[in-house]
This record gives sequence, C-alpha cells and structure tokens, in this order.
Amino acid sequence: MTTATVVGSGPNGLAAALTLARAGVEVTVLEAADTIGGGTRSSEAILPGLLHDHCSAIHPMAVGSPLLRSVDLERYGLRWAWSELDCVHPLDDGTAGVLHRSVTETAAGLGADERLWRTLFERPVAGYDETSADIMRPLLRIPRHPIRLARFGVPAIAPATLLARAFRTEAGRALFGGVAAHAFHPLERPLSASVGLGILTAGHRYGWAVAVGGSQRIADTMAAALADHGGKIETGVRVRSVADLPLSDITVWDLAPTAVAEILGEQLPARIARAYRRFRYGPGVFKVDFAVEGGVPWTVEAARRAGTVHLGGSFADIAAGERDIHAGRMPQHPFVLVGQQYLADPQRSVGSIHPVWTYAHVPNGYTGDATEAIIAQVERFAPGFRDRVVGLTARTTEGFAEYNPNYVGGNIMTGAKDIPQLLFGPRKTLQPYDIGIPGHYLCSAATPPGPGAHGMCGANAAERAMRKLR
Ligand SMILES: Cc1cc2nc3c(=O)[nH]c(=O)nc-3n(C[C@H](O)[C@H](O)[C@H](O)COP(=O)(O)OP(=O)(O)OC[C@H]3O[C@@H](n4cnc5c(N)ncnc54)[C@H](O)[C@@H]3O)c2cc1C
Repeated sequence: MTTATVVGSGPNGLAAALTLARAGVEVTVLEAADTIGGGTRSSEAILPGLLHDHCSAIHPMAVGSPLLRSVDLERYGLRWAWSELDCVHPLDDGTAGVLHRSVTETAAGLGADERLWRTLFERPVAGYDETSADIMRPLLRIPRHPIRLARFGVPAIAPATLLARAFRTEAGRALFGGVAAHAFHPLERPLSASVGLGILTAGHRYGWAVAVGGSQRIADTMAAALADHGGKIETGVRVRSVADLPLSDITVWDLAPTAVAEILGEQLPARIARAYRRFRYGPGVFKVDFAVEGGVPWTVEAARRAGTVHLGGSFADIAAGERDIHAGRMPQHPFVLVGQQYLADPQRSVGSIHPVWTYAHVPNGYTGDATEAIIAQVERFAPGFRDRVVGLTARTTEGFAEYNPNYVGGNIMTGAKDIPQLLFGPRKTLQPYDIGIPGHYLCSAATPPGPGAHGMCGANAAERAMRKLR
C-alpha cells in the first residue's frame, strides 16, 4: 500500500491528507500543536462558553471549495450559517457601503454605483463555479473556461486604485477597497484588485458564512472524514529534520517555504533552497478578541446586522494605510476588520456578552501594541464601545509566529501577494507544489490558489503527488 506523511494539519494539510486517503493511500498527519486545524482553530479564550475563532472566521471560499464540497463535510456535522448582512463599511459621514449576499440588493443600495457593481459581479457570479475550476489551481495553465476567466480576469489585472476611480460614490469605492485590502498589498500595484474581486465574487455566490460552533469545526469534520478513510493524525509532533519523518512514499509539507528550506537543508536542490529562503512575507496582523456586553454600539444600524465590519474610512485612507504597513510604518489609523460571528451563530455568546473578533493590518514583525489603535477605530464608528468591553485578549505579530510558524512576522497570508508570488507561488515554476525531492510536495497557502480555509492548495498538491506516483 502507498504511504504518505503530511506535515501540518491546517486546512491544506488536512485536504492533502483527505485527497490521498480517498485515493487509497495510508496517511499519517503530524501536527506540532496540541490541537489540529492550524488557521482554523477556535477556543473559549476569555470567558467559559464565549467562543472565539483564533484565525479564520468568514468562509465564502470554503463553502464553495470544490474539495470541501466533494467530501460533504455536512455529513460529519459541519454546518454553515450566515448573518443577515455579509459586510458593512461605515464612513465618517454616517453613511455606509452595505454588502448583501445578493448582487442586485448590494447594487441597489449603492445609488450611482448600481450599474458598476452589477457590471463587475453579475456575470462572474453566475459563472463562479466554472471560473473557480481555473482560479482554484495554478493560474498559469490553459484555462478550462477561457471566456469566463477573461470576464473575471480583465478587471482583476488592474490596480485597485484604478478600478476605484470608476466608482462615483464613496460608499461603493470604500466597500470595494476594504475587501481589496484583504490582499495585504499596496492598492496601487497591478493585480491588487484581484484578491478583492475574487472574495467578493465568491461571497456573492456563497455568502460570507461562518462555521456553526467555530472554525475549529472545519478542521474537526475534515479530521473525522479522514479517519473514515483510515487516515491518522498525531498531535504534539514538531518535525525539525528529515530524521523526524517516518519512511513513506509521499511527504506533503503544509509549511511556509522558509521553514521547509530550514528543515530539509541540503537535501533540497540548491536553486530551490535559494528560492525558498528568498520567499517574501507581507505585512502582519495584530489581533484583539473582545468580550462585549450587549455587542458593539455601531452608529450605522446596518453594522449591527453584519457578520463583518471594515473600519478604515474612505478608500483613500485605506490605500494610505496599506501603503504605510507595506513600507514598514505603523499607521495612526490602521485598517481594522471586525468579526461578529455570533450574529449567525448565537451559541458563541454567553447571555448578553458577545465575542467580537478584530485585527489590524500592521507592518511585518511590528513590535508595538495596537490594542488602543483598534479600540480607537471601533470607537470612531461606535462611540461607547470601550465601556462595553468586559474582557479582551491580544495576539502580537510575534505571538502569531509562535502560535503557528507559518505566520512569519504575523503575515497570515503565508507570503506576500506580489505579482510573481501571486502568479507562480513560492518560486518561478509551472509546478509550484514540487520541491525538487522525489515524493516531496509543498501544500501550504504559499502555493496556489493561496490563503483561505478552502483546502485547495492541499488538494492540488495531493493530486500532483498521485499523478507523479502513477
Ligand atoms: C487572524 C487570521 C484571520 C484569518 N481570517 C480568515 C478568514 O476569515 N477566512 C479565511 O478563509 N481565511 C482566513 N485566514 C487565513 C487562513 O487561516 C489560512 O490561509 C489557512 O489556515 C492556511 O492553511 P494552511 O493549511 O496552508 O496552513 P495553516 O493553517 O497555517 O496550518 C499549518 C499547520 O502546520 C503546523 N506546523 C507548522 N510547523 C510545523 C512543524 N515543523 N511540524 C509539524 N507541524 C507544523 C502548524 O501548527 C499548523 O497547524 C485567517 C488567518 C488568520 C491568522
């Protein structure tokens, strides 16, 4: 029987393990932490019963993931839930951009930008399932659906700032800009619109879903499916060298390229070791989870019904903040994301105390404390928030790197999303999962299609491994 070892149990490691196990391979996953899941873990960090997602929270890409759909995780107990509104972007003048799951409703709320929003999203959303067959794998391939891909890809090539000029309302422009900023990349660079357009298109198709019971349920149900196919997971096992690996036909690494270079050392071909050591990491995050009595008192009523709230003000302000963090400067008013997952999944709250998930975009390796900057951004759009906080816990960029070595300098994307790394992955090759040692593959979010709890990097790497084996 073919055997495989997967190092790391993030969503991509588990997806690789599942793909191999379903093909009849005997799989063992080795996980350094005591809990599986990597970026999909959750726990009661502040008060008993108050459930916080440590990392990933909102999952349009996971709901639509070809791999996760094919495994039918609902059979293992995974349930998705949606808040009434997907995302709200409040502005200082009391107005807001409001993202509904429906393109039509979102567009209707954007006044003079109604037509633009419909033009950008109506057809790509209708064709999303076909397009995702192309965008959920390495981009430099002959596309399966070239016309649909072109329809999505032409605006995606533009810098976000160029696309932003087409908007006539600040609400529309800022709503788009807040989502584009998920790329952690300067918004004036080419291709910087692509990540935002991808998230918005997937969101309009599948909604900004949360996992009922916390994101940990994604990992737990993947693990249950894996066990059903005979796969095993060992936790508390940190792989530091090849000597820590059991002998197997296939080894799949759910790790950052720099970590793989360090662990495999001279066994890697020199050119690949060089490329991995030069792999670039983008800006980081500083995260604060709050326990909030009565929830956040947003001035804009719509924000009280939204699973996600983006705080940064106008498009120009967000673009300036992203430019700063990219240049290593901490902005006075950083872009802040707020997650109110309890609106879709009320069991995460304890009575009237609700878990509120926030993080600020900060420079890579930022050593300061951004707690006050985050509170100030929330207060800007929800005066009185501070007085409702009954507990909080913060994680610095360094804390993230300790929590999970894949988040180098607090970079939760496992790599900068600049043009070469966005197009090729960790090195310039058409085979981004190959690491130059027979039987070894890379499957972390550093590989295409990149970050998110969709598992498609893992599925693609495992399929590549099976093809090579054959
Ligand atoms: C604050 C935050 C918010 C996020 N929000 C979202 C969101 O809302 N939606 C979304 O889709 N995504 C989100 N993400 C991103 C998402 O979590 C990641 O893209 C995803 O988890 C990447 O999966 P992965 O399997 O590649 O790696 P990871 O999830 O990073 O898993 C890697 C695993 O490998 C283990 N490991 C590392 N080194 C070793 C070793 N030497 N030996 C053994 N095991 C090792 C780690 O402990 C970890 O479990 C967020 C991430 C963070 C941190």
